[in-house]
Amino acid sequence: MKDEIKQIALREGASKVGIASVESFAGAPNGHAPTDFIPDAKSVISFGVRLLDAAVERDRLFMNSQMVPEELRMPVQEYIYETVAYSMVNTRLDQIGLSIALFLEKQGYPSMCFPATYDTYYDSLMRKIPNFQAFFSHRHAAVRAGLGEFGLNNLVLTPEYGPRIRLNSVITSIQLEPEPIIGEKLCIRGCTLCLEACALCVNNPSTNILTPKENLNWNEIWLDPPSVTDKHACNSGRCAGGCMRVCPVGSKRTHRS
Ligand code: SF4
Ligand code: SF4
Repeated sequence: MKDEIKQIALREGASKVGIASVESFAGAPNGHAPTDFIPDAKSVISFGVRLLDAAVERDRLFMNSQMVPEELRMPVQEYIYETVAYSMVNTRLDQIGLSIALFLEKQGYPSMCFPATYDTYYDSLMRKIPNFQAFFSHRHAAVRAGLGEFGLNNLVLTPEYGPRIRLNSVITSIQLEPEPIIGEKLCIRGCTLCLEACALCVNNPSTNILTPKENLNWNEIWLDPPSVTDKHACNSGRCAGGCMRVCPVGSKRTHRS
């Protein structure tokens, strides 16, 4: 059954898929643990769809364009990014989750999938929820399913794509063998590229929105976010996700700037 589930995810366009045990979510906030969605949940299936490098590097698009006026270059870059690296990816993530959950329910296992993001309800719904709390943490699920580890930018770093991947999850009552957590640390000790990009992107170099927590242990795999962020800043739309773009992990480029 595990192989069949993974085949569904990959066939529907997932770049990565893994399984986490429900026990690994001990300590999840009330109302957001797997068993809050499926009372006899046993497993969480985590999957991700990678982002196209060219879309992530959107600031390179339409430079010296003969068609796009200079004053429209940034809005057009944003449009490309928000469709190719956000809406289209979220649609695929939604579809993968639904396909897996419907398959499992047909086999007799109650299962729950999620919209990949608040997306079109972003303004009307998400901003009313204190601290922008998600329904279910797909990032925590991903690290527990062996897809990667948290990086200093609080995103899940994967060996293949770094943080340039979007995630979703399915909670299910079937017992599946979980994957081991990732064996090798990915976040690079001494690297501060994401911190620098964060400070720059909010045009306030004196305030590091992304701040590492004290006493970080660099000798362990990070299963929880290692930094403090101002979620309002992250969701303001002002930052263009610099902390994701510059990360060298999984990058084909030798240097990101
Ligand atoms: S999303 Fe933007 S504001 Fe938030 S940590 Fe990343 S760069 Fe900083
Ligand atoms: S940019 Fe550097 S410090 Fe930040 S998450 Fe990536 S590897 Fe870690």
